[in-house]
Amino acid sequence: MDIEFNQPCQVGNELAYIEDAIARGKTSGNGFYTEQCHDFFSNRYGFSKCLLTTSCTDALEMCALLLDIQPGDEIIAPSFTFVSTVNAFVIHGAKVVFADSEASHPNIDAQGIEELITDKTKAIVVVHYAGMACDMDEILSVAQKHDVPVIEDAAQGIDAYYKEQPLGSLGSLATFSFHETKNISSGEGGMLVINEPKYQHRSNLIWEKGTNRTDFKRGLVDKYEWVDKGSSFLPSEFNAAYLYGQLECVDQIQDKRVTIWNHYYNKLEELEQKGFISRPIMPSYATQNGHLFYVLCRSKEERSELIAYLYDKSIRAVFHYLPLHLSEYYKSKHDGRSLPNAKRFADRLLRLPLYYDLTSDQQDKVISAIYDFYGQVEE
Ligand SMILES: *Cc1c(COP(=O)(O)O)cnc(C)c1O
Repeated sequence: MDIEFNQPCQVGNELAYIEDAIARGKTSGNGFYTEQCHDFFSNRYGFSKCLLTTSCTDALEMCALLLDIQPGDEIIAPSFTFVSTVNAFVIHGAKVVFADSEASHPNIDAQGIEELITDKTKAIVVVHYAGMACDMDEILSVAQKHDVPVIEDAAQGIDAYYKEQPLGSLGSLATFSFHETKNISSGEGGMLVINEPKYQHRSNLIWEKGTNRTDFKRGLVDKYEWVDKGSSFLPSEFNAAYLYGQLECVDQIQDKRVTIWNHYYNKLEELEQKGFISRPIMPSYATQNGHLFYVLCRSKEERSELIAYLYDKSIRAVFHYLPLHLSEYYKSKHDGRSLPNAKRFADRLLRLPLYYDLTSDQQDKVISAIYDFYGQVEE
């Protein structure tokens, strides 16, 4: 049987809650289960305000609307990320000033941000790759010095911490993803966290299609009308119900994923010692949340051979991210700086299968196939 790269899981009351949402007679957005999810995040992580969205991409677009991004504005973002991190701003006319990765980690090179700031910079968007925190003290202090808001793309960052503070609680705004490929999922789904009080009221208007429906529901205004820009960012109660079923099992899901991650890490040590691959280097201020496990191959060619070798054994492993500054869409718009670390991670990084239902037999099959590829015997 094939070992897929990813497989969505169903672990708790997801289906019962969808039936209950139907029984409650409200299946559009912002109902009972949406509120349950918001409360879950406030209680567990202390987020002061959350809004579920249809995707992380949409949550990022809400950020662009909240910051009132205009043509000619600049945002700073890593090149080594998923396209949504920057596309949300680009569709509003922003120019992306791409930053390199750290030498030892795919995350944005925090020391390199300050020299990219200009008087047009409207936001610094950082991505916690693999759920491992960026160097937030450094990033926040540069941002504060230049009075630029920080947005955390925490799509991969659920239940992960920076110096004991949950990811998503550090920037002015933060976004999460509940896409099928993430730890906690509702098929498609996302969330915006609004930490900075000055954005909180407007976030509801943008969320509710530019209307003051939330104020109206709370009895704060006597009519419900068009007051701002906005769009349809609310997920249905079906999605929220499924998501809530998953959130109730977050510890169970996280324990399993972290166990799988640690097993890869420990078992592949010998191949690292022999110089064939490198394992992830975890910054001391970060935790890992079992989102994704990667190894770095010695070259792009060797990585392609390893992918093909695993594929022949019915194991699906995938590389991650073509750097955005070299992409078909953006290469002619990029300012020409070379970003060697982003390029190196893009060329050499290989992600291994990691999902809740991956069995230990399957995982051991993946590990021994990698040993076989390098002509080594696992000890
Ligand atoms: C998955 C992901 C996204 C997009 O999430 P969607 O919910 O699919 O829109 C954005 N940024 C990063 C870093 C991601 O990993």
